[in-house]
Amino acid sequence: MYAGIATYPNDDYNLEDLIKKCDVAIYKDKSSEKKQVIFYNDRISQEIAYQAEVSEQLVQALENKEIFLKYQPLIDIKSEIYGFEALARWSSPVLGDISPDVFISNAEENYLIIPIGTWILEEACKMQVLMREKFKKEFVISVNVSLIQILQNDYVDIVKRVIKETDINPDYLTLELTESIFIKSTIALDGKIEELHDLGIKFSMDDFGTGYASLTYLRNIAFDNLKIDKSFIDGILSAKKENRIVATIVSLVHNLDMKVIAEGVEHKSQYEYLRQISTDVYQGYLMSKPLTLEEAIDFVEQFYKVARSKRVDVLASKKD
Ligand code: C2E
Ligand code: CA
Ligand code: CA
Repeated sequence: MYAGIATYPNDDYNLEDLIKKCDVAIYKDKSSEKKQVIFYNDRISQEIAYQAEVSEQLVQALENKEIFLKYQPLIDIKSEIYGFEALARWSSPVLGDISPDVFISNAEENYLIIPIGTWILEEACKMQVLMREKFKKEFVISVNVSLIQILQNDYVDIVKRVIKETDINPDYLTLELTESIFIKSTIALDGKIEELHDLGIKFSMDDFGTGYASLTYLRNIAFDNLKIDKSFIDGILSAKKENRIVATIVSLVHNLDMKVIAEGVEHKSQYEYLRQISTDVYQGYLMSKPLTLEEAIDFVEQFYKVARSKRVDVLASKKD
């Protein structure tokens, strides 16, 4: 049960508009923690107006080529390039650069994530093939997938079509799903995951540690990798207990025959600790920020010029 409160004469003057604002307050704040009585305020109405503007601009964004991808390198424990995570970017001529946290959730709400997500998958697979041809080497491309996408009846068909059209070897395509996907969805996704798995596609559980029922999903669903959320990696610098949690997760995940990817590695000391506890793959500003396609090509070229033992030091020294 939720109650929205709008006050006369602060918020409005007539009953109809006041009731509307009570509704708006509830609608806007329902998802946030625990609150059951929500007062209407201007911030809420501004946020609604902003989200409506984002939705409106997003409709043409794909067509107008305002959305593009950046690629963040993933480095493995042997100091080789494991692959890249594709991260969406939107430069709107009207609204400026909008963070993916903002526009992806907006696109999820109005289902624009379906065409946008398909485009992202195509673009990411094309990048993987381009890198394969350029460097005669297979790098993994890891793509974020929203619940709304995977819930579509034709999701598996879309992925199959993209594989065929781009000629990517599906063994090097990873799909990242967040824990919250499984928390929100009561519908079993196992069937779809199994079918895609059978094609060779890998799955990563993203943002591990931020949800609630993580271990259950690890047991029930065939994930290949687990990405430990940045909030745990941040803690490595200070709290000893946090270190032990990360070490425990790594050994647990290894026992389940999965790889561990550490997200948000920013400091050499974090990297050294993560290496010591046998983390498989590292992602973060210490290795590299997300890069444009040209920068990613340059990254690979420069990376292999450096002796293996010095690679991470060289990357860390370049970090701005
Ligand atoms: P995510 O999947 O957890 O992506 C990792 C985020 O952490 C990225 O932010 C990346 O730029 C950032 N990051 C990486 N290393 C570091 C580091 O060392 N320090 C810090 N402070 N940050 C680091 P970004 O690109 O802003 O993406 C935010 C979120 O937006 C993503 O979180 C993901 O949930 C969503 N997202 C981005 N692209 C897509 C997409 O193509 N599809 C879907 N469905 N979601 C996407
Ligand atoms: Ca991700
Ligand atoms: Ca993540």
